[in-house]
Amino acid sequence: MADKFDVIVIGSGPAGYVAAIKAAQLGLKTACIEKWKNDQGKGVNGGTCLNVGCIPSKALLDSSHKFEMAAHHMGDHGISTGKVKVDVAKMMERKNKVVQQLTGGISGLFKANGVTPIYGTGKLLKDKKVEVTDFDGNTTAYEADNVVLATGSVPIDIPPARNNGDTIVDSTGALEFDEVPGRLGVIGAGVIGLELGSVWGRLGSDVVVIEALDKFLPMMDQDISKESLKILSKQGLDIRLGCMVSGSEVKTSGKTHKVDLTYKDPKGEEQTETFDKVIVCVGRRAYSDGILADDSGVEVNERGVVQVNDQCQTNVPGVWAVGDLVRGPMLAHKGSEEGVMVAERIAGQKAQINYDIIPSVIYTHPEIASVGKTEQQLKDEGVEYEVGTFPFQAIGRALATGEGEGMVKIIAHAKTDTILGVHCVGPAAAELVQQGAIAMEFGSSAEDLGLMVFGHPTFSEAVHEAALAVHGHAIHMPNRKKRK
Ligand code: FAD
Ligand code: NAD
Repeated sequence: MADKFDVIVIGSGPAGYVAAIKAAQLGLKTACIEKWKNDQGKGVNGGTCLNVGCIPSKALLDSSHKFEMAAHHMGDHGISTGKVKVDVAKMMERKNKVVQQLTGGISGLFKANGVTPIYGTGKLLKDKKVEVTDFDGNTTAYEADNVVLATGSVPIDIPPARNNGDTIVDSTGALEFDEVPGRLGVIGAGVIGLELGSVWGRLGSDVVVIEALDKFLPMMDQDISKESLKILSKQGLDIRLGCMVSGSEVKTSGKTHKVDLTYKDPKGEEQTETFDKVIVCVGRRAYSDGILADDSGVEVNERGVVQVNDQCQTNVPGVWAVGDLVRGPMLAHKGSEEGVMVAERIAGQKAQINYDIIPSVIYTHPEIASVGKTEQQLKDEGVEYEVGTFPFQAIGRALATGEGEGMVKIIAHAKTDTILGVHCVGPAAAELVQQGAIAMEFGSSAEDLGLMVFGHPTFSEAVHEAALAVHGHAIHMPNRKKRK
């Protein structure tokens, strides 16, 4: 038997690496096992988020936004750019450098905090023993008082359009195209479809997004969804709702491969479209494949989701699970907070997470962001509420930067005035909604936000005005409701 640890974490994504760092900071002898390899066959920390998720996608979103600004919008400011060209290889090189810097940073943080990195594939055995198979196939067994499972999630593959690593790809493949596809099919108008569809659309692809549901972004507040659909369609994303993909066929002519994608339209009629590339982004599934020995005793549901309580404890004492592997939204920050909570609980502290206040953001331009309850959820729950909205059209800063599309919407309890939800599509929506999250965490009322002084000119003034609008007190727009 090799070393014994206080805590062994399996998986070094944002849930696992944060759990490991926090545990080490709390004085626990901690190891973190990771199976991700780079091109040189070396172990890399950071998981989906840093390697093929949040970070590379945001790097490309930023590059493609700059391209679009230069190609199409600088003229509005009286700046002529001439013909703007894109060097995809250079764009990818920059993205890869950002990824390397951040994944290397995790290894540095492990060293600084005394976390032992172990590279290989981990498996939980009985009695909190962990077996690791290294990259050469050798196995070592470790023991721990506590094991944290943090093996994340993987993209869902669908039978009518299987990932072939070339013409039909998942999100990872779509972060690595070596040229801008002429016609790009995107299956799924969810977070990834909209973000990566935007990247390639801005760079010049003709993007068609095929979505099975007849509602756009159903989990978002419907006012925000409707406004977002309008804005994104105007940008050129051809979003087809209520369309179910039924098949695909790769057609080869010389060195060129294209995909014929077949789908049923809302009338039930079969349609076929030809694409140079197709991205399948229909959701991700918890990745518990092979991480548990049959006698580990840990409960997993039929979808591979490890079952945990609010403190991320599994049914086996001393075995915890966090991040995409467990229930709840598949978001990096949700997993990281669970990592912190678990480490603190292992160290004997009484940590907990407020699962009602987890912001989520879609990084299109403008961004679409949300925290707390939507109007539809409150209706279903029978909660009485008041709504205040404010459009960016009436925000000086937004007009000055040419970003006057979208709005902020604040929902407050009808009786207590406590803020229940903050929703936004518009400039800096991610940051504005985070202001709402802070307010909600402190139990703020809409009136409290309305009484605060906001800097001018800022995008944040839309949050101030939406809070004022909850009671019909907005200044820079006629109030639709009576003052209270
Ligand atoms: P992961 O990040 O998936 O990490 C799990 C790790 O465990 C991996 O490194 C894996 O190699 C390792 N592992 C698995 N099995 C084993 C084993 N047996 N032994 C050892 N190691 C193992 N979320 C956001 O909040 N914001 C965003 O902007 C955002 N953008 C995204 C963009 C894309 C394109 C994608 C795909 C996802 C995005 N996400 C975003 C989601 C986010 O990446 C995930 O929610 C997050 O990475 C989950 O963290 P995790 O630690 O639970 O799992
Ligand atoms: P998603 O759940 O956001 O969207 C998937 C979409 O595909 C849904 O609208 C669904 O109705 C549709 N769909 C499902 N099956 C279909 C089919 N057969 N044909 C057509 N449409 C179909 O999933 P995603 O976009 O793949 O993202 C996966 C996860 O990654 C999400 O849970 C998200 O939280 C996370 N993520 C987050 C961010 C972010 O926070 N900015 C960015 C990317 C990914």
